[in-house]
This record gives sequence, structure tokens and C-alpha cells, in this order.
Amino acid sequence: MSTPTASELWQLSVAEASRLLSNREISSAELTDACLERVATVDGQISAYVTVTADLARQQAADADRRIAAGEAEYLTGIPMQIKDLLCTNGIPTTCASAMLAGYVPVYDATAVARLREQGAVLLGKGNMDEFGMGSSTENSAFFPTRNPWDTGRVPGGSSGGSAAAVAAGAAPFALGTDTGGSIRQPASFCGVTGLKPTYGRVSRYGLVAYASSLDQVGPIARDAADCALILQAIAGHDPRDATSLPDPVPDYSAALTGDISGLRLGVPSEYFAEGPGSDGMDPGVRAAVTAAIDQLAALGAEIRRVSLPTTEYALACYYIIAPSECSANLARYDGVKYGYSYQGDGQGDGDMWEAMERTRQHGFGPEVKRRIMLGAFALSSGYYDAYYHKAQQVRTLIRQDFARVFQEVDALAAPVSPVVAFPIGERADDPVRMYLVDVYTLPVNMAGLPAMSVPCGFARSNSDQGLPVGLQLIGPHLSEPNLLNIAHAYQQATDWHRHRPAI
Ligand code: GLN
Repeated sequence: MSTPTASELWQLSVAEASRLLSNREISSAELTDACLERVATVDGQISAYVTVTADLARQQAADADRRIAAGEAEYLTGIPMQIKDLLCTNGIPTTCASAMLAGYVPVYDATAVARLREQGAVLLGKGNMDEFGMGSSTENSAFFPTRNPWDTGRVPGGSSGGSAAAVAAGAAPFALGTDTGGSIRQPASFCGVTGLKPTYGRVSRYGLVAYASSLDQVGPIARDAADCALILQAIAGHDPRDATSLPDPVPDYSAALTGDISGLRLGVPSEYFAEGPGSDGMDPGVRAAVTAAIDQLAALGAEIRRVSLPTTEYALACYYIIAPSECSANLARYDGVKYGYSYQGDGQGDGDMWEAMERTRQHGFGPEVKRRIMLGAFALSSGYYDAYYHKAQQVRTLIRQDFARVFQEVDALAAPVSPVVAFPIGERADDPVRMYLVDVYTLPVNMAGLPAMSVPCGFARSNSDQGLPVGLQLIGPHLSEPNLLNIAHAYQQATDWHRHRPAI
């Protein structure tokens, strides 16, 4: 490949950029400027960023160039990135797209962010999202909705919609998102990029602003599986600051990318292709693209087996007990005293502490966050705890056992990420249950703590003039990231869906 021109630099993958940087064919300063320029060109149309840290980025790029010149570069030294605004960044506002945290500036980096910064990655800015991670469309941002670069009348998915839209539009070579019930995989699917939700505990949650602590996980959104491997390598591993962080050694993810999947036992769960209750209809274009992707994996040597995950139909109801319950506890900390926004009264000098707290929460939280807090507080209240929260935990165990049983027969599962493609802005905003249904195939994975990916596998034209990206979901047993990344890599070597770019 010849050295790219300045206007092509923003199109580079992480792996390509890293190679050109280490050969000194390009500088991080040039690459960072090209990305910042791309952000300036497209972000007016997609609103993927809540904060752009241009000065810091240029400074970090200069540091990276010095480090490269000194021969001390690591893989991500000098590579620009966007970070979802749910992850704490030292000295840079971290809002979770909530009015509650407007103006909040953390005094430390999340561990995943710190590890990228130690490698010398360059921060372009913070990604827009659904408030505190609660949503599937990025319409629940307190600031503005993000738009899908493939069709700016449509949502990018959520809650990491700003991250997926930025990567798809070339406004960041990669981003970090978080996934509690699908928030990395579903926006990656809607925007035609590659996303990985690691095994629960594989990446530290320290500095991730908690939504539902037993489900939250940090992961990469990038152009392809090879880039996801590089980023996961940097952020994975034990962290003494997160008690749920796994002590297991981190394997070499890039070395796992052999591209050979012959003999792979790949399960196809019939419940993930259902038309029935729990889904408001699978888009035929999604079904066709995912089915074709499974055929392609079979052609590459995978042995396809039909499997059943009968508890799938309970996952959504169960998730919407557990996630709001944890959210109601986690969000109790926003009392107007410790962080961010604080109601200052109406100037009359009246009101006691309780009123100040109530008003802070009334004005600081958006409607979806309030809905979740109320659902959770109800499910946890005495008299209802056993019927809702306790029951949901029991069902969660059954979901976990379902997966454990099929993983005795197969090495990984292939399914759609979402039954639908990106929908028009506003279409589901007033109907929470229809919004929740978009995540029917991603939530079970979080309930079981499993790793899973979204891999671009085609376009669906069924409900759009223009084709919209479809994501293939690959799910594996705990700590099977090397295998999942390799399946995705094998698929991406044989196909070019991940190379398609929106015409923005
Ligand atoms: N859409 C799901 C929810 O609203 C999942 C969000 C997420 O993964 N953060 O809870």
C-alpha cells in the first residue's frame, strides 16, 4: 500500500495506522489532524461527540511522535480514539449524557482508558450515548440524538451510538463503548462496524460509571476483528480496583487470528430467528443476511448445528427487572451533594435537604432514567422483592445453564444481533417496550456474562430505500474471545461487508 494522502488518513484501520506510524511513513500529528478534520466535517451531521478534545489530542499526538522517534512505541501509540462518555477521563468532562453530570470533571481515568493512554493512544473526545447507558437508540441523550451515518434520519443504535457512528463515519479509528444489555453490539450492528463485548470481568469496570454492575462491561468498537483484538489486548486483564475483575492471564488475541475455522462446531439457536412473542417481527432482510453469513461460515469449514436456548423468551422480562434494580441502587448516589448538578432552590431561601435532593433528581434525570429507577425501586421493595427481583435472579440462573448446556455441544453460536436494522429517529421513542424489544437477542449474553461480537454481514433493504447494515452476532463461552475474534476474522477475510463505508 502506498502512503496515504492527508485526506485518506482518517480512513485507516488501527492496524494499518500502527504499521505506518512505526515505519515513520506518517506521524501521529498528521493522523490526529486528519481525524480532527474529519470530526469537524461530519459531526455536524451525526452528533457523535459530546466533547471534542482537540488541543489535548494534538498534545498527545506530539508526545506519541516523540515516543515513536525514541523507539519506545507500543501498538496503539499515536492512534486516535473516541471514548464513550460513561468512562471517566481525568480532567475531561464525563457526563454520561445526563444533565445530572453536566460539568462533572473526574480526577482519575477509568482503568481501560488509563491502559490506552499508557500505550500512547490519543483522545479525540467523548462519545454521545443514551443517558447513563439506558436506551437502544442514543435518543435518550440529555444533549442531542446521534444520527446514523448511513441514513441521518435514523438512529445509530445505543447506548454507545456516538461511538459506533463515529467509527462508521471515519470520525475515530476506534472507540471504547460499554455493554450492559447490548450497547456495544447493537449500535455496531446498526452502523456497520465491528464490536466486542468481552466476558464479564475481562475488562476492569473501575471508572465506568455504574448502570447495572452485574452486567456492565467495557469493550472495543472498530472497523474489523483484527483491530478489536489489538484494543482488547490493551484493556483486558486483572485490576485490583475492580473486585469482579478476572485474574486469568490475558492471551495473545492477535496470535489467535489464524483465519482457520475448519472443524469449528457452530450452533444456531432457533429461538434467535423467531417471529413469535417477544419479538415484534424479524426483518426479512436481517434474516437473509444472517443466514447467508452462517452459510459462508459453513463454507469456511464450520460444522453448523441447530441448537435450542428455551429460556430466551424470558430474558427480556428478567433483564428489565435486574438492570433497573441495580440502576435504582447505583443512581441513588446522585443526591445533588457529591457530583455534578445540584438544585439551588428558587432564590427564596426555602426548602430543606430533602426538597433539594428531590428537585435535583427531578431536574437532573431524564424520563427513561426515572422510569428505570421507579421500576427498580418497585422490584426491590419489601413485599415485591421475592416475586420480582428474587424470581428474576432464579431465571437468570436458568439462562446461564441454557448456555452452559449448548456450549458442551458447540464452540460458539451464530445469530442476529437485533431483529431489526436502524429505525427512523422518533419511531420507538414513545414506546419503551418496543424500544426494549430491539435488544431481545443481546440481553441474554449479559445475563450469562458471556463474550459476544457484532460483525457486519450485509445490508437489508426491506424497510429502507437505501440498504442498512446488518450485524451477525457471535457468542462464545466464558473467556472464548480468542475463538470469537478468529471466527470474525476468518469471515472478514472471506467477505468485504466490513469495508463498506457510508457516503457521508
Ligand atoms: N438497551 C438496553 C438498556 O436500555 C441495554 C443498554 C446497555 O447495554 N447499556 O438497558
